[in-house]
Amino acid sequence: MHDTQAYAAASATSPLTLDTIRRRETTETDVQIEILYCGVCHSDLHTVKDEWNSFMPTTYPCVPGHEIVGRVAGVGSAVTDFSPGDLVGVGCLVDSDHSCDQCRDDVEQFCPNATFTYNSEDKHLGGVTYGGYSESIVVDESFVLRVPANLDLAGAAPLLCAGITTYSPIRRWGAIKGKKVGVVGLGGLGHMGVKFARAFGAHVVVFTRSPSKKEDALRLGAHEVIISTDAEEMQKHAGTFDFILDTIAADHDINAYISMLGLDGNITLVGAPETPLAVSAFALLFGRKSLSGSLIGGIKETQEMLDFCGRHDITADVEVIPIQKINEAYKRMLKSDVKYRFSIDMASLNTK
Ligand code: NAP
Ligand code: ZN
Repeated sequence: MHDTQAYAAASATSPLTLDTIRRRETTETDVQIEILYCGVCHSDLHTVKDEWNSFMPTTYPCVPGHEIVGRVAGVGSAVTDFSPGDLVGVGCLVDSDHSCDQCRDDVEQFCPNATFTYNSEDKHLGGVTYGGYSESIVVDESFVLRVPANLDLAGAAPLLCAGITTYSPIRRWGAIKGKKVGVVGLGGLGHMGVKFARAFGAHVVVFTRSPSKKEDALRLGAHEVIISTDAEEMQKHAGTFDFILDTIAADHDINAYISMLGLDGNITLVGAPETPLAVSAFALLFGRKSLSGSLIGGIKETQEMLDFCGRHDITADVEVIPIQKINEAYKRMLKSDVKYRFSIDMASLNTK
Protein backbone atom coordinates (compact mmCIF):
# COMPACT_ATOMS: atom_id res chain seq x y z
CA MET A 1 0.00 0.00 0.00
CA HIS A 2 1.07 3.55 -0.57
CA ASP A 3 -0.27 6.98 0.33
CA THR A 4 -1.70 9.25 -2.36
CA GLN A 5 -2.87 12.84 -2.18
CA ALA A 6 -6.52 13.35 -3.12
CA TYR A 7 -9.46 15.70 -2.73
CA ALA A 8 -12.19 14.18 -0.62
CA ALA A 9 -15.55 15.12 0.90
CA ALA A 10 -15.95 14.13 4.56
CA SER A 11 -19.76 14.29 4.52
CA ALA A 12 -22.70 15.23 2.30
CA THR A 13 -22.45 18.82 3.44
CA SER A 14 -18.64 19.20 3.49
CA PRO A 15 -16.59 20.82 0.76
CA LEU A 16 -13.92 18.76 -0.96
CA THR A 17 -10.54 19.24 0.74
CA LEU A 18 -7.02 17.84 0.48
CA ASP A 19 -6.73 14.40 2.06
CA THR A 20 -4.45 11.36 1.98
CA ILE A 21 -5.81 8.03 0.75
CA ARG A 22 -4.30 4.57 0.26
CA ARG A 23 -3.74 2.83 -3.04
CA ARG A 24 -2.84 -0.87 -3.29
CA GLU A 25 0.56 -2.09 -4.52
CA THR A 26 0.27 -3.26 -8.11
CA THR A 27 -0.71 -6.92 -8.37
CA GLU A 28 0.58 -8.89 -11.36
CA THR A 29 -2.39 -7.81 -13.54
CA ASP A 30 -2.51 -4.18 -12.39
CA VAL A 31 -1.50 -0.94 -14.04
CA GLN A 32 -0.42 2.01 -11.91
CA ILE A 33 -1.35 5.35 -13.44
CA GLU A 34 -0.13 8.86 -12.73
CA ILE A 35 -3.27 10.99 -13.24
CA LEU A 36 -2.84 14.03 -15.51
CA TYR A 37 -6.45 15.23 -15.96
CA CYS A 38 -9.79 14.29 -14.47
CA GLY A 39 -13.12 15.56 -15.84
CA VAL A 40 -15.84 16.76 -13.46
CA CYS A 41 -19.09 14.85 -14.05
CA HIS A 42 -22.44 15.80 -12.54
CA SER A 43 -22.48 12.26 -11.07
CA ASP A 44 -19.50 13.32 -8.90
CA LEU A 45 -21.66 16.07 -7.44
CA HIS A 46 -24.73 13.81 -6.98
CA THR A 47 -22.50 11.31 -5.14
CA VAL A 48 -20.63 13.82 -2.98
CA LYS A 49 -23.97 15.27 -1.86
CA ASP A 50 -25.44 11.77 -1.37
CA GLU A 51 -28.33 12.62 -3.70
CA TRP A 52 -28.59 9.00 -4.86
CA ASN A 53 -28.92 7.79 -1.28
CA SER A 54 -31.98 5.59 -1.90
CA PHE A 55 -30.20 3.73 -4.71
CA MET A 56 -26.49 3.84 -3.89
CA PRO A 57 -25.69 5.65 -0.65
CA THR A 58 -22.35 7.44 -0.40
CA THR A 59 -19.66 6.22 1.96
CA TYR A 60 -17.36 8.96 3.30
CA PRO A 61 -14.70 10.09 2.83
CA CYS A 62 -15.68 10.24 -0.84
CA VAL A 63 -13.10 10.86 -3.58
CA PRO A 64 -14.99 11.31 -6.84
CA GLY A 65 -13.68 11.37 -10.42
CA HIS A 66 -14.26 8.87 -13.22
CA GLU A 67 -13.00 10.71 -16.28
CA ILE A 68 -9.33 9.93 -15.86
CA VAL A 69 -6.48 10.41 -18.29
CA GLY A 70 -2.93 9.66 -17.24
CA ARG A 71 0.39 8.05 -17.95
CA VAL A 72 1.35 4.52 -16.97
CA ALA A 73 3.82 4.70 -14.09
CA GLY A 74 4.26 0.96 -13.51
CA VAL A 75 2.81 -2.43 -14.49
CA GLY A 76 2.46 -5.83 -12.82
CA SER A 77 4.57 -8.78 -14.02
CA ALA A 78 1.75 -10.35 -16.09
CA VAL A 79 0.72 -7.14 -17.90
CA THR A 80 1.68 -7.29 -21.56
CA ASP A 81 -0.52 -4.63 -23.21
CA PHE A 82 0.72 -1.57 -21.33
CA SER A 83 4.16 -0.16 -20.56
CA PRO A 84 5.40 2.74 -18.44
CA GLY A 85 4.89 6.03 -20.29
CA ASP A 86 1.75 4.93 -22.23
CA LEU A 87 -1.15 7.40 -22.34
CA VAL A 88 -4.19 5.73 -20.85
CA GLY A 89 -7.71 6.39 -19.59
CA VAL A 90 -9.96 5.03 -16.86
CA GLY A 91 -13.71 5.60 -16.85
CA CYS A 92 -16.48 4.63 -14.44
CA LEU A 93 -15.46 0.98 -14.06
CA VAL A 94 -12.31 -0.50 -12.52
CA ASP A 95 -13.27 -4.18 -12.23
CA SER A 96 -16.02 -6.81 -12.62
CA ASP A 97 -16.31 -10.56 -12.04
CA HIS A 98 -15.03 -11.32 -15.58
CA SER A 99 -17.28 -14.39 -15.75
CA CYS A 100 -20.99 -13.50 -15.90
CA ASP A 101 -23.10 -13.25 -19.08
CA GLN A 102 -22.78 -9.46 -19.07
CA CYS A 103 -18.98 -9.60 -18.85
CA ARG A 104 -18.90 -12.17 -21.66
CA ASP A 105 -21.16 -9.89 -23.74
CA ASP A 106 -18.83 -6.88 -23.21
CA VAL A 107 -21.36 -4.96 -21.11
CA GLU A 108 -19.40 -5.08 -17.85
CA GLN A 109 -21.31 -2.03 -16.60
CA PHE A 110 -24.24 -4.41 -15.96
CA CYS A 111 -22.14 -7.09 -14.20
CA PRO A 112 -23.75 -7.74 -10.78
CA ASN A 113 -20.25 -7.59 -9.30
CA ALA A 114 -18.98 -4.55 -11.17
CA THR A 115 -16.60 -2.32 -9.22
CA PHE A 116 -17.16 1.34 -10.00
CA THR A 117 -14.26 3.76 -9.87
CA TYR A 118 -15.48 5.44 -6.68
CA ASN A 119 -17.95 4.68 -3.90
CA SER A 120 -17.93 0.94 -4.74
CA GLU A 121 -16.72 -1.89 -2.50
CA ASP A 122 -12.90 -2.12 -2.74
CA LYS A 123 -12.13 -5.85 -3.09
CA HIS A 124 -8.42 -5.34 -2.38
CA LEU A 125 -8.24 -2.91 0.55
CA GLY A 126 -11.74 -3.05 2.03
CA GLY A 127 -13.79 0.12 2.38
CA VAL A 128 -14.74 1.84 -0.85
CA THR A 129 -12.92 2.71 -4.05
CA TYR A 130 -11.53 6.22 -4.52
CA GLY A 131 -11.72 8.05 -7.82
CA GLY A 132 -9.65 10.31 -9.99
CA TYR A 133 -9.43 13.53 -7.97
CA SER A 134 -6.04 12.19 -6.89
CA GLU A 135 -2.40 11.82 -7.90
CA SER A 136 -2.51 8.20 -8.97
CA ILE A 137 -4.68 5.11 -9.26
CA VAL A 138 -4.11 1.35 -9.56
CA VAL A 139 -6.45 -0.48 -11.97
CA ASP A 140 -6.80 -4.01 -13.34
CA GLU A 141 -5.35 -3.98 -16.86
CA SER A 142 -8.62 -5.09 -18.47
CA PHE A 143 -10.26 -1.81 -17.37
CA VAL A 144 -7.50 0.44 -18.71
CA LEU A 145 -8.20 2.18 -22.05
CA ARG A 146 -5.80 3.51 -24.66
CA VAL A 147 -6.05 7.23 -25.38
CA PRO A 148 -5.22 8.22 -28.98
CA ALA A 149 -2.03 10.30 -28.98
CA ASN A 150 -3.42 13.05 -31.22
CA LEU A 151 -6.12 14.12 -28.72
CA ASP A 152 -5.79 17.06 -26.35
CA LEU A 153 -5.53 15.36 -22.97
CA ALA A 154 -7.63 17.78 -20.90
CA GLY A 155 -10.42 17.46 -23.49
CA ALA A 156 -10.00 13.69 -23.80
CA ALA A 157 -10.62 13.02 -20.09
CA PRO A 158 -14.42 13.65 -20.29
CA LEU A 159 -14.69 11.07 -23.08
CA LEU A 160 -14.26 8.40 -20.40
CA CYS A 161 -17.76 9.10 -19.00
CA ALA A 162 -19.60 11.90 -20.86
CA GLY A 163 -18.24 10.51 -24.14
CA ILE A 164 -19.18 6.86 -23.79
CA THR A 165 -22.49 7.62 -22.03
CA THR A 166 -23.71 9.51 -25.11
CA TYR A 167 -21.90 7.50 -27.81
CA SER A 168 -23.43 4.20 -26.69
CA PRO A 169 -27.18 5.06 -26.87
CA ILE A 170 -26.71 7.22 -29.98
CA ARG A 171 -25.12 4.20 -31.71
CA ARG A 172 -27.69 1.79 -30.37
CA TRP A 173 -30.71 3.82 -31.50
CA GLY A 174 -29.34 4.51 -34.95
CA ALA A 175 -28.68 8.24 -35.03
CA ILE A 176 -27.71 8.19 -38.68
CA LYS A 177 -28.30 10.17 -41.86
CA GLY A 178 -32.02 10.78 -42.39
CA LYS A 179 -32.88 10.61 -38.67
CA LYS A 180 -33.94 13.58 -36.57
CA VAL A 181 -32.19 13.40 -33.22
CA GLY A 182 -32.78 15.61 -30.18
CA VAL A 183 -30.35 16.24 -27.35
CA VAL A 184 -31.95 17.65 -24.19
CA GLY A 185 -29.68 19.77 -21.95
CA LEU A 186 -26.45 21.26 -23.22
CA GLY A 187 -24.07 20.31 -20.42
CA GLY A 188 -21.15 17.89 -20.25
CA LEU A 189 -23.10 14.91 -21.62
CA GLY A 190 -25.29 16.97 -23.93
CA HIS A 191 -22.47 18.67 -25.79
CA MET A 192 -20.80 15.32 -26.42
CA GLY A 193 -24.14 13.93 -27.62
CA VAL A 194 -24.36 16.74 -30.15
CA LYS A 195 -20.84 16.04 -31.44
CA PHE A 196 -21.47 12.30 -31.85
CA ALA A 197 -24.95 12.57 -33.40
CA ARG A 198 -23.54 15.08 -35.90
CA ALA A 199 -20.51 12.87 -36.64
CA PHE A 200 -22.87 9.93 -37.35
CA GLY A 201 -24.79 12.03 -39.88
CA ALA A 202 -28.09 12.69 -38.10
CA HIS A 203 -30.09 15.93 -38.19
CA VAL A 204 -29.32 17.25 -34.70
CA VAL A 205 -31.58 19.47 -32.60
CA VAL A 206 -30.63 20.79 -29.15
CA PHE A 207 -33.25 21.50 -26.48
CA THR A 208 -31.94 23.99 -23.93
CA ARG A 209 -33.37 26.29 -21.26
CA SER A 210 -30.45 28.64 -21.81
CA PRO A 211 -30.84 31.03 -24.79
CA SER A 212 -27.20 32.08 -24.22
CA LYS A 213 -26.09 28.59 -25.36
CA LYS A 214 -27.75 28.86 -28.78
CA GLU A 215 -24.67 29.94 -30.74
CA ASP A 216 -22.47 27.39 -29.01
CA ALA A 217 -24.97 24.62 -29.79
CA LEU A 218 -24.75 25.45 -33.50
CA ARG A 219 -20.94 25.66 -33.34
CA LEU A 220 -20.82 22.27 -31.59
CA GLY A 221 -22.73 20.69 -34.48
CA ALA A 222 -26.46 21.22 -33.94
CA HIS A 223 -28.53 22.03 -37.03
CA GLU A 224 -31.29 23.63 -34.94
CA VAL A 225 -31.76 24.83 -31.37
CA ILE A 226 -35.08 24.89 -29.48
CA ILE A 227 -35.44 26.99 -26.35
CA SER A 228 -37.45 24.55 -24.27
CA THR A 229 -39.34 27.26 -22.35
CA ASP A 230 -40.82 28.61 -25.60
CA ALA A 231 -44.12 26.70 -25.97
CA GLU A 232 -44.72 27.88 -29.53
CA GLU A 233 -41.30 26.73 -30.71
CA MET A 234 -41.78 23.37 -28.96
CA GLN A 235 -45.18 22.92 -30.60
CA LYS A 236 -43.70 23.39 -34.08
CA HIS A 237 -41.52 20.28 -33.62
CA ALA A 238 -44.11 18.05 -31.89
CA GLY A 239 -44.23 14.48 -33.24
CA THR A 240 -41.19 14.85 -35.51
CA PHE A 241 -38.24 13.18 -33.76
CA ASP A 242 -36.88 9.64 -34.26
CA PHE A 243 -34.72 9.66 -31.15
CA ILE A 244 -34.15 11.95 -28.17
CA LEU A 245 -31.33 11.72 -25.63
CA ASP A 246 -32.33 13.27 -22.28
CA THR A 247 -29.31 14.38 -20.22
CA ILE A 248 -31.06 16.57 -17.64
CA ALA A 249 -29.64 16.18 -14.13
CA ALA A 250 -32.72 17.41 -12.23
CA ASP A 251 -36.47 16.83 -12.07
CA HIS A 252 -38.26 17.95 -15.26
CA ASP A 253 -41.35 17.35 -17.38
CA ILE A 254 -40.29 14.43 -19.57
CA ASN A 255 -43.75 14.33 -21.21
CA ALA A 256 -42.89 17.56 -23.01
CA TYR A 257 -40.07 15.64 -24.78
CA ILE A 258 -42.06 12.43 -25.32
CA SER A 259 -44.55 14.55 -27.24
CA MET A 260 -41.72 15.56 -29.60
CA LEU A 261 -41.33 11.92 -30.78
CA GLY A 262 -42.91 10.55 -33.94
CA LEU A 263 -44.32 7.02 -34.46
CA ASP A 264 -42.06 4.40 -32.80
CA GLY A 265 -39.75 7.13 -31.58
CA ASN A 266 -37.53 6.50 -28.57
CA ILE A 267 -36.41 8.74 -25.75
CA THR A 268 -33.44 7.48 -23.75
CA LEU A 269 -32.65 8.80 -20.29
CA VAL A 270 -29.01 9.15 -19.37
CA GLY A 271 -29.55 11.95 -16.87
CA ALA A 272 -30.08 10.62 -13.34
CA PRO A 273 -32.21 13.06 -11.29
CA GLU A 274 -32.46 12.20 -7.60
CA THR A 275 -36.29 12.07 -7.66
CA PRO A 276 -38.52 9.89 -9.92
CA LEU A 277 -39.95 11.44 -13.08
CA ALA A 278 -43.72 11.41 -13.71
CA VAL A 279 -44.40 9.73 -17.07
CA SER A 280 -47.74 10.08 -18.82
CA ALA A 281 -48.83 6.66 -20.13
CA PHE A 282 -50.90 8.35 -22.84
CA ALA A 283 -47.88 10.25 -24.11
CA LEU A 284 -46.24 6.86 -24.83
CA LEU A 285 -49.33 4.92 -25.98
CA PHE A 286 -50.24 7.21 -28.83
CA GLY A 287 -47.45 6.65 -31.34
CA ARG A 288 -46.11 3.40 -29.80
CA LYS A 289 -43.24 5.37 -28.32
CA SER A 290 -40.63 3.95 -25.99
CA LEU A 291 -38.70 5.24 -23.02
CA SER A 292 -35.33 3.66 -22.17
CA GLY A 293 -32.31 4.16 -19.99
CA SER A 294 -28.63 3.74 -20.73
CA LEU A 295 -25.63 3.42 -18.41
CA ILE A 296 -22.13 4.39 -19.61
CA GLY A 297 -20.79 1.59 -21.86
CA GLY A 298 -18.64 -1.54 -21.69
CA ILE A 299 -14.86 -1.48 -22.01
CA LYS A 300 -14.83 -2.71 -25.62
CA GLU A 301 -17.30 -0.02 -26.71
CA THR A 302 -15.42 2.63 -24.71
CA GLN A 303 -12.23 1.78 -26.60
CA GLU A 304 -14.19 1.86 -29.88
CA MET A 305 -15.46 5.36 -28.91
CA LEU A 306 -11.94 6.58 -28.05
CA ASP A 307 -10.60 5.29 -31.37
CA PHE A 308 -13.51 6.97 -33.19
CA CYS A 309 -12.65 10.24 -31.40
CA GLY A 310 -8.99 9.81 -32.39
CA ARG A 311 -9.95 9.39 -36.07
CA HIS A 312 -12.41 12.31 -36.05
CA ASP A 313 -10.46 14.52 -33.63
CA ILE A 314 -13.37 14.72 -31.17
CA THR A 315 -12.79 15.89 -27.59
CA ALA A 316 -14.90 17.70 -25.00
CA ASP A 317 -14.88 21.51 -24.84
CA VAL A 318 -13.26 22.03 -21.45
CA GLU A 319 -12.46 24.71 -18.93
CA VAL A 320 -9.29 23.52 -17.23
CA ILE A 321 -9.24 24.21 -13.50
CA PRO A 322 -6.82 23.58 -10.63
CA ILE A 323 -8.18 21.14 -8.04
CA GLN A 324 -8.39 24.00 -5.53
CA LYS A 325 -11.32 25.40 -7.58
CA ILE A 326 -13.40 22.22 -7.39
CA ASN A 327 -15.99 23.48 -4.87
CA GLU A 328 -16.57 26.62 -6.93
CA ALA A 329 -16.84 24.42 -10.04
CA TYR A 330 -19.62 22.38 -8.41
CA LYS A 331 -21.57 25.58 -7.64
CA ARG A 332 -21.14 26.73 -11.23
CA MET A 333 -22.19 23.32 -12.61
CA LEU A 334 -25.46 23.61 -10.65
CA LYS A 335 -26.09 26.93 -12.39
CA SER A 336 -25.30 25.36 -15.82
CA ASP A 337 -22.35 27.77 -15.94
CA VAL A 338 -19.76 25.55 -17.59
CA LYS A 339 -18.66 25.39 -21.20
CA TYR A 340 -19.02 22.48 -21.31
CA ARG A 341 -16.98 20.37 -18.93
CA PHE A 342 -14.52 21.20 -16.17
CA SER A 343 -11.28 19.24 -16.47
CA ILE A 344 -8.97 19.25 -13.46
CA ASP A 345 -5.25 19.69 -14.16
CA MET A 346 -4.03 17.21 -11.58
CA ALA A 347 -0.53 18.76 -11.44
CA SER A 348 -2.25 21.43 -9.30
CA LEU A 349 -2.63 18.89 -6.48
CA ASN A 350 0.99 19.42 -5.53
CA THR A 351 0.78 23.22 -5.45
CA LYS A 352 -0.60 25.23 -2.57
P1 NAP B 1 -24.32 18.96 -16.52
O1 NAP B 1 -23.05 19.28 -17.20
O2 NAP B 1 -24.68 19.68 -15.27
O3 NAP B 1 -25.50 19.13 -17.63
C1 NAP B 1 -26.85 18.95 -17.35
C2 NAP B 1 -27.66 19.91 -18.21
O4 NAP B 1 -29.04 19.67 -17.94
C3 NAP B 1 -27.43 21.37 -17.90
O5 NAP B 1 -26.37 21.95 -18.59
C4 NAP B 1 -28.77 22.01 -18.31
O6 NAP B 1 -28.77 22.25 -19.72
C5 NAP B 1 -29.76 20.89 -18.04
N1 NAP B 1 -30.43 21.10 -16.74
C6 NAP B 1 -29.87 21.15 -15.52
N2 NAP B 1 -30.79 21.35 -14.56
C7 NAP B 1 -31.97 21.41 -15.21
C8 NAP B 1 -33.31 21.60 -14.78
N3 NAP B 1 -33.61 21.79 -13.48
N4 NAP B 1 -34.29 21.60 -15.72
C9 NAP B 1 -33.99 21.46 -17.02
N5 NAP B 1 -32.72 21.28 -17.47
C10 NAP B 1 -31.74 21.25 -16.58
O7 NAP B 1 -24.38 17.41 -16.13
P2 NAP B 1 -23.74 16.13 -16.88
O8 NAP B 1 -22.42 15.84 -16.29
O9 NAP B 1 -23.91 16.29 -18.32
O10 NAP B 1 -24.71 14.97 -16.34
C11 NAP B 1 -26.09 14.99 -16.64
C12 NAP B 1 -26.81 13.89 -15.88
O11 NAP B 1 -26.39 12.63 -16.40
C13 NAP B 1 -26.51 13.83 -14.38
O12 NAP B 1 -27.70 13.47 -13.69
C14 NAP B 1 -25.48 12.73 -14.28
O13 NAP B 1 -25.43 12.11 -13.02
C15 NAP B 1 -26.00 11.79 -15.33
N6 NAP B 1 -25.00 10.82 -15.85
C16 NAP B 1 -25.47 9.61 -16.23
C17 NAP B 1 -24.61 8.68 -16.77
C18 NAP B 1 -25.14 7.37 -17.24
O14 NAP B 1 -24.37 6.43 -17.42
N7 NAP B 1 -26.44 7.27 -17.48
C19 NAP B 1 -23.26 8.98 -16.91
C20 NAP B 1 -22.82 10.24 -16.55
C21 NAP B 1 -23.70 11.17 -16.01
P3 NAP B 1 -29.34 23.58 -20.39
O15 NAP B 1 -28.67 24.75 -19.68
O16 NAP B 1 -28.93 23.46 -21.81
O17 NAP B 1 -30.83 23.58 -20.23
ZN1 ZN C 1 -19.82 10.54 -15.11
